[in-house]
Amino acid sequence: MTESKNATPTDEASASAGKDFIRIKVKNDLDTGRLRDGSLQTRFPPEPNGYLHLGHAKSICLNFGLAEEFGGRCNLRFDDTNPLKENQEYVDAIRADVRWLGFDWEDREYYASDYFEQLCILAEKLIVLGKAYVDSQTAEEIHNNRGTLTRPGLNSPFRNRGTEENLDLFRRMKAGEFPDGAHVLRAKIDMASPNVIMRDPILYRIRHAEHHRTRNRWCIYPMYDFTHCISDSLEKVTHSLCTLEFVNNRELYDWILETLDLFRSEQTEFARLSITRTVLSKRKLIQLVTEGHVSGWDDPRMPTLSGLRRRGVPAEAIREFCARIGIARADNIVDYGFFEFCIREILNATAKRAMAVLDPLKIILENYPEDRIEWFDLPFFPDEPEKGAQSLPFSREIWIERSDFREDAPEKFFRLAPGREVRLRYAYYITCKEVRKDSTGRIDSLVCVYDPQSRGGGSPDRRKVRGTLHWVSIAHAVPAAVRLYDSLFLQDDPENIPAGKTFLDTLNPNSLRTVAARIDPGIASLPPGERVQFERLGYFCVDPESTPAHPVFNRIVTLKDTWAKLEQRRS
Ligand code: ATP
Ligand code: MG
Repeated sequence: MTESKNATPTDEASASAGKDFIRIKVKNDLDTGRLRDGSLQTRFPPEPNGYLHLGHAKSICLNFGLAEEFGGRCNLRFDDTNPLKENQEYVDAIRADVRWLGFDWEDREYYASDYFEQLCILAEKLIVLGKAYVDSQTAEEIHNNRGTLTRPGLNSPFRNRGTEENLDLFRRMKAGEFPDGAHVLRAKIDMASPNVIMRDPILYRIRHAEHHRTRNRWCIYPMYDFTHCISDSLEKVTHSLCTLEFVNNRELYDWILETLDLFRSEQTEFARLSITRTVLSKRKLIQLVTEGHVSGWDDPRMPTLSGLRRRGVPAEAIREFCARIGIARADNIVDYGFFEFCIREILNATAKRAMAVLDPLKIILENYPEDRIEWFDLPFFPDEPEKGAQSLPFSREIWIERSDFREDAPEKFFRLAPGREVRLRYAYYITCKEVRKDSTGRIDSLVCVYDPQSRGGGSPDRRKVRGTLHWVSIAHAVPAAVRLYDSLFLQDDPENIPAGKTFLDTLNPNSLRTVAARIDPGIASLPPGERVQFERLGYFCVDPESTPAHPVFNRIVTLKDTWAKLEQRRS
């Protein structure tokens, strides 16, 4: 793991949490009265061509967070200009995810497609101003004549078409007279601009395709650069925040609004979120789903908000994570461990303790009466006993974790071994007397004795036991499927791969392991979405597929906090 280059909570970005460069700018703009009606307007502009992921959460928390902090408003705007890739399923999922994260756009739900009519009128205005023309070169010609970073582009032979001809052609494009690719509308700027984006960018293309909202009303669709700034402007967005890859588009953003004399929204770029062992690109996430590498968008291994929700990650932990990584101008990679650290922090305070055994090994307490059942209290939160407890049944036969026993235990193995004594948490001390094996030599069960004096798990004569084990009464235990997740990718940067390979080659073949666990009956009927901490094992969440007869739990995160340890070692 490359710790040094990864962002930590002590980075410049978050050390000044609440005072990042965007917040400083917004505050300044408000203080100096630069904003027209004195209030902040932001927007979150997803393209409905996939599900939202953690990277989007960063943008959502920034845009909605700013509005909350500075008494402004944030719009939800669907940037739906590409009918081939967008659909209603994605729109619905995005709305659900933003809401789940805890943000509210009230009645301000907008669609770029609602502006198609106005965009068309503004395109004609550009033509009339002599600032746009219909180009009839092929896509390949346009591409080849674009030039390079060191070589200027070539003017299109159609660049000097007259206004009337341009208007006529554009209207006929819109009327559906031409096939896809026959013409495009381009801005007339400068084919020699050092900024390649300014070399007569395409504003409109012909695409005979049905749109999920406007159906077959349109056969020309506006490009992102033309649509985005105008949508911002029509909504009177004051601060249009986007990720760094749009730095070069800002010049065009400004050119369009200035040339058309529209409300001047202002674009500011910030670093996108990258996390180790994770891909945050919709194109790649779609591939994982459509090729069946995961069970769907909400597979709990996915970095999508729906996947994280199903896994059991609380929305609060995601908001906290976004607040702590902060907003910076330079790209960096956040360690996945830091995300887990934020999740544990929330769950430690909110998830009740419970008992479960993932890989059961049978214990027979030979001196415990056959028909006796006792009940012991497992406090939901050991540090806050007033918050109640779960009653655990105890009987002569008990499941413990197979890994908590070793026949050939070394000195420092502080769990159960032949002749050694351990504590069954909240119950009794037990000592292992005999190991029973099946015909293959596998350990089948352990015969132990318990010390009646140690009732409740306390030491009767101050004698020390080093190990404390979790357990479940066999007579009462309920079988449950428990899904243990590991990261989806094996390497820190799944996109940094040798030639000839793809990010799929770094998929972790062991990212999901399902075990037949035994759980305390008290948690078998918890409703989907409920989170618990299994003693000594980690945090788990009831899956939507769970039923009281067949409980299913997803592991959210283990207990081991390598991140906190790492931080301790550093300081
Ligand atoms: P992808 O690269 O995954 O396809 P995108 O940028 O094309 O993402 P959009 O739906 O256009 O996806 O994104 C909506 C908003 O979320 C944009 O403002 C975009 O800048 C922001 N966003 C997307 N990915 C990230 C990220 N990794 N970190 C921060 N913001 C992001
Ligand atoms: Mg985008």
